Amino acid sequence: MPQSKTPVFFLDPELVHRYNVSGPRYTSYPTALQFTDFDEQKLLWAIEESDLKNRDLSLYFHIPFCATLCYYCACNKIVTRKRKLATNYLNLLSKEIALQAPKFATRKVSQLHWGGGTPTFLDDDEISGLMYAIRDSFEIRSDEDGEFSIEIDPRTVNPDRIRHLRECGFNRLSLGIQDFNKKVQTAVNRKQSFSQTKQVIEAANRSGFKSVSVDLIYGLPHQSTQSFLKTLQQVVILNPDRISIYNYAHLPERFHPQKRILVSDLPTADEKLDILQLCIEELTSEGYQNIGMDHFAKPDDALCLAQKNGTLQRNFQGYSTQADCDLIAFGITGISHIGTTFSQNVKQLEQYQKLLEADKLPVEKGIVLSGDDLIRQAVIKALICQFNLRFADIEEVFDIEFATYFAKELVALRPLVQDGLCRINEQGVRVSHSGRLLIRNVCMVFDKYLHRPKTTTRYSRAI
Ligand code: SF4
Repeated sequence: MPQSKTPVFFLDPELVHRYNVSGPRYTSYPTALQFTDFDEQKLLWAIEESDLKNRDLSLYFHIPFCATLCYYCACNKIVTRKRKLATNYLNLLSKEIALQAPKFATRKVSQLHWGGGTPTFLDDDEISGLMYAIRDSFEIRSDEDGEFSIEIDPRTVNPDRIRHLRECGFNRLSLGIQDFNKKVQTAVNRKQSFSQTKQVIEAANRSGFKSVSVDLIYGLPHQSTQSFLKTLQQVVILNPDRISIYNYAHLPERFHPQKRILVSDLPTADEKLDILQLCIEELTSEGYQNIGMDHFAKPDDALCLAQKNGTLQRNFQGYSTQADCDLIAFGITGISHIGTTFSQNVKQLEQYQKLLEADKLPVEKGIVLSGDDLIRQAVIKALICQFNLRFADIEEVFDIEFATYFAKELVALRPLVQDGLCRINEQGVRVSHSGRLLIRNVCMVFDKYLHRPKTTTRYSRAI
């Protein structure tokens, strides 16, 4: 039942502009910018070491192909209509599975995610084939105990395909909407109608998907509060379980497709802030809860429940409910997190093929976390997932005295306390409602690597 339209908090424009600096989204700590040379041997050691803990596995499959190009896109993708590329890529993925799976023979998979690119670039037979290869090589937990998700592009599926995905074992769907306004869609080259999207979500509900999440983007060309209000109202009609509203960062020098977007068509920083305030008002008044940053979910959704009972996690897909797993990523650019390491696969298809044909794991970069990295990783996770950092929890696990170890950071937090982003007492740090939106600023205080010259310039801004 929708509640009254009183927002949970107002964004203070002066405050937000002041904190609107570039920073990581902390889907990992340390972030990928810290990765250096990393070879297969280091990965094999990490696997051997992590095996002793016998943790569950999370598998990520990167399907990089897209049939058309969205101009705002900053993902690792290959835009093509050549279907043969997918066939060859699937053969390589099977090879990578065959190399990796025997090393994890005693582990169970409780989380699976296919992302891209566009996983539904693959046809139904290709999707079943890859799923079969995964099931044949790994022990997958039951539908009740696991989270098995796929990103779909509504322009590439119909109700029959959605049913097929459910029959293949997926139980969560996530799909991009971005904006339903036609002028915005034309400017970013992504035409996707409300009825097309509605048909897909209704098919997902009929087929028994447990959760549907949608992505929106604010800051796109021609957007205004008025136009975006219409999109939000349409999204609410679709009734998804989770909604993410990402900030469009215009960085055409890094992401070349963005060169086709005219700066003069973009909303100003103040207009973007108004749109964000509107999102918070609309979605909270419709009963969605703000999980953190720009993520919203229904109160009975597993994400809200996990946040309430302290088990919320954060990984490369954003927030997650699954316990701390070892993550194995397959495909080009995929990032694995095994034991105390992060490692990233090669980015080029040719190199990926060459290494697999030589029976080598296609890893090229990564990092072995130091003791200090692990402490800071736990601190940042508590802040970004629970908004509540209890010093005693960190002291118990890492055998440190928090106030001494982080003396400099606690001083650096003081201005954020004065600005109302968080409160500090002897027990810990608690993040306020406005701090939730600017949570990356709070986390940045504990990020050792940001204090090195020129590190922040590669990240996007918070708003
Ligand atoms: S936004 Fe998604 S569908 Fe569009 S080009 Fe990027 S990866 Fe492909």
